[in-house]
Amino acid sequence: MTHLTLQAVTRRFGAAHAVDSVDLSVPDGKLVCFLGPSGCGKTTLLRMIAGLETPTSGSIHFAGRDITRLPANQRDFGMVFQSLALFPHMTVAQNVAYPLKLRKTTKEQQTRRVAELLELIQLPHMANRPVTQLSGGQRQRVAIARAIASQPKLLLLDEPLSALDAKLREAMQVEIRLLQQRLGITTIMVTHDQREAMTMADEIVVMEKGRIAQVGKPLDIYRDPVSEFVADFIGLGNILPVTYDGAGGVSLPGGRRISVAQPARVPASSSDIRLLIRPEDVCVKAASDAAGPNRLAGTVTFIRDVGASLEATIDCAGFTLTAATTPRETPGLALGMPVLAELPPHACKLIAARAAP
Ligand code: ATP
Repeated sequence: MTHLTLQAVTRRFGAAHAVDSVDLSVPDGKLVCFLGPSGCGKTTLLRMIAGLETPTSGSIHFAGRDITRLPANQRDFGMVFQSLALFPHMTVAQNVAYPLKLRKTTKEQQTRRVAELLELIQLPHMANRPVTQLSGGQRQRVAIARAIASQPKLLLLDEPLSALDAKLREAMQVEIRLLQQRLGITTIMVTHDQREAMTMADEIVVMEKGRIAQVGKPLDIYRDPVSEFVADFIGLGNILPVTYDGAGGVSLPGGRRISVAQPARVPASSSDIRLLIRPEDVCVKAASDAAGPNRLAGTVTFIRDVGASLEATIDCAGFTLTAATTPRETPGLALGMPVLAELPPHACKLIAARAAP
């Protein structure tokens, strides 16, 4: 059963559309990420779901009920914002107990539930510590415990990890994800970090200028983006302007022709086509290897070798390619070296070019 449904949800500020006619179904028990660049409308959309912003038009249904104009405090949703908004004068336990107090649960119930939640976030020994004396990651966990204290049906997270340093952020991504899966709580999280979305989400909603550009499982979107905007936003990619010959081949910048296995979703006008190939799909071969239809001669112009992985930039006269490999796969690769870059036909995707701004 789908719990949350948005129909043609729109929010205008003056003449500008912050969110423009969004249709979306959020499946029960899943973690969905709203992902997109700054200003694409992620937060506005989340705030409308939370009840902190009213749609200009469209409707929002939750568990079969129209909640479009229901006040936030009657929605029974848990929320965590970037600022966390913990009460600084309270202890960990008092912060977590706060929403339970508002609901007038008995003292006993509060104590039991707080103990349960502190166990869940692995901070039972810090119950009486002021939240100001916690680390960033610990504060983060307290904010989540407080948000789920009253067992909300929906958890809304707006960039909750953006204040943390990279390492802690990655640890918290895993922690939140495991907690969400354990509780089975339907969660929507806003982020502009594609790696974070890829790590955590069951489904990603990629947004562009107030609209949904694509919805899907992280790897499906990575492997099969619908447009240059999505391809560029999710992961690294080589994106080249090409012309399609209508018979399984494209001409690259500079005129070389290569075969592609999937001419699907090619826009009608050939000038609007891009070829996408992910760096890990570009195979780097020795220049002395046999020439082949999808093998392009080039020169290595840059190498980023970080031990476990290696990234090479290859100048192919007319365009450059980035290839992701490992020092073990391509031993002896060096700057200025001539190589063959193989683009396997099945890994070459044709996508629609980004619309002009
Ligand atoms: P970010 O990642 O930077 O937070 P976002 O994708 O969450 O961006 P929103 O905050 O939803 O984007 O904003 C979408 C658009 O709506 C932006 O152009 C923003 O300037 C505009 N906007 C948001 N809130 C208001 C407001 N209260 N009044 C006027 N314009 C607003």
